[in-house]
Amino acid sequence: MPTLDTFGVEPTPVLRSSARNRSGQVLCAECGAYVGDTKQSQAVRNPQYAGADASLNEDLDFLVTYGWHCDRHGAEIVMPIRVGGRSLSVLSDGWVGVRVQFADQVVRWVPTPRRELPDGYLAVSGSGRGE
Ligand SMILES: [Zn+2]
Repeated sequence: MPTLDTFGVEPTPVLRSSARNRSGQVLCAECGAYVGDTKQSQAVRNPQYAGADASLNEDLDFLVTYGWHCDRHGAEIVMPIRVGGRSLSVLSDGWVGVRVQFADQVVRWVPTPRRELPDGYLAVSGSGRGE
């Protein structure tokens, strides 16, 4: 079955860390444009899950995460909010952290809805603490 890849119309989004100006406004990491009004759920096709979450590369084609995006580029720039680990206090219940490699090769935790993960995934992978 043809996919969007076949037609090349939708490049894979690029994961970046958000930037901020001195006023604390959120800026695109690529172009510096203000993106503070784009904070919402973001879908990222084929992200590079990493570390103990690498098995998700088999099972989860779309990462649903939360943060900002910039659409002024050939590929969408997605900048998830910062989270520190598997369990999150910054978002409401139902969100957990997963490890993903960003465009700068650094692996960071990003939030995703628990329900988006494969059944039983968190029971097998544990809390992710101590890694
Ligand atoms: Zn930009």
